[in-house]
Amino acid sequence: MSDPDSRKFDVIVVGVGSIGSATCHHLAKKGAKVIGIEQFAIPHGHGSHHGNSRMIRMAYYEHSNYVPLLKRAYTLWDELQGHTSEKFFHITGGLYMGASYGSIFPGSLRAAHEHQLKHTVLTPSQISARYPALHVADHFSGFHEEHAGFLIPEFAVSAYTKSALRQGAHIVQGEKLITWNSGPNGIKVTTEKGHYWAKHLVITAGAWSMKLARELGCQLKVTRQVMAWFKPLGSVERFAPGNFPCWFIETESPFGHYGFPVIAGDPGLKVALHKPGEVINPEHLQDEYCQPQPEEIDQLRTILDEYFPGCAGRLTRASICMYTNSPDGHFIVGHHPYHSHVSIACGLSGHGFKFSSVLGEVLADLALEGKTSMPVNFLSPQRYLDVR
Ligand SMILES: Cc1cc2nc3c(=O)[nH]c(=O)nc-3n(C[C@H](O)[C@H](O)[C@H](O)COP(=O)(O)OP(=O)(O)OC[C@H]3O[C@@H](n4cnc5c(N)ncnc54)[C@H](O)[C@@H]3O)c2cc1C
Repeated sequence: MSDPDSRKFDVIVVGVGSIGSATCHHLAKKGAKVIGIEQFAIPHGHGSHHGNSRMIRMAYYEHSNYVPLLKRAYTLWDELQGHTSEKFFHITGGLYMGASYGSIFPGSLRAAHEHQLKHTVLTPSQISARYPALHVADHFSGFHEEHAGFLIPEFAVSAYTKSALRQGAHIVQGEKLITWNSGPNGIKVTTEKGHYWAKHLVITAGAWSMKLARELGCQLKVTRQVMAWFKPLGSVERFAPGNFPCWFIETESPFGHYGFPVIAGDPGLKVALHKPGEVINPEHLQDEYCQPQPEEIDQLRTILDEYFPGCAGRLTRASICMYTNSPDGHFIVGHHPYHSHVSIACGLSGHGFKFSSVLGEVLADLALEGKTSMPVNFLSPQRYLDVR
């Protein structure tokens, strides 16, 4: 790109991970001249989109405001899967279990009632009858939705990136953004390799969004999250999609452990805790001291032993990933309050992957049209400035 005009774009997207890859796809599809700038390879294991599986579910216990976004997210994932040979979108059913006075069971019911979502409520004995491997406490209730499942994040990021490229997007990898400036004539972006100019900038930098969020009056916490896989004992068939759901148990109210069916190529039964872990600097994710510790693995095994007795064999893999937690646990998506040519998505708080497809479309619309028809006002960055 030695010709200066070749460095001028309609939109620059910084961070080609979960949300950024989808944003590049939607921008290119809408005919924009777009460049995506990624500091690592695409996809990679240094951020928030690795680990084989991300749950997607509709009856959103976190807040029913997310349901309209999820409906669109499902449509867009279906569309992408239709154009992708690699299977990354699996509908397997989802089962969420907890006390009726907890958060997950009543929250799922609330979202289902508000949005008329198909679901089944199950007692512990009905759960064991349907899924013999699962044993839950007598005071737990189960909420089952057929339309839940999981996405394979590495394949999905790769699929969106390839689709963006096919539609004319420029994507650079191994190039880190150093700084950006916004002026009346647009945006200038400086990376470690040079400068780029555009009418609009989209920042989807995941765990590297702390400085940006601070400018908006919001303190993001990046946390270390442990994932572990264990060899399934007995027949593997009983853990296959169709026989086994994506599951979520409210073990540490309002948080809980979760896992997935086992598909070909998986290291085994996966288990992790959905609760912000230890605060870390994203630059240190790969350091020795950040790696999973034996006592953390033991804690995860204990959960499988309690709820899936006799199912977990030896540890086959363990890994660390990052949550970027906003103060209220809700995403931060919208125009930058001080720079109208800049829009952002960050603080996805450990539950954002399933929304990548729709947030990519939202960000593309904000960049090109200045507005979106999707109901994202409840996620506006402005909310942190309003409470100052
Ligand atoms: C263990 C774990 C389990 C999860 N489970 C689920 C789940 O079941 N369901 C669900 O919906 N969500 C889940 N999530 C959350 C979800 O994965 C994240 O919310 C989502 O991946 C965040 O997307 P992102 O685009 O913000 O970050 P990322 O995908 O990490 O992308 C950010 C990108 O920006 C790049 N970048 C940053 N700074 C720069 C720079 N200066 N220059 C160039 N590039 C830069 C990074 O390298 C990165 O590629 C889970 C997360 C973890 C860690």
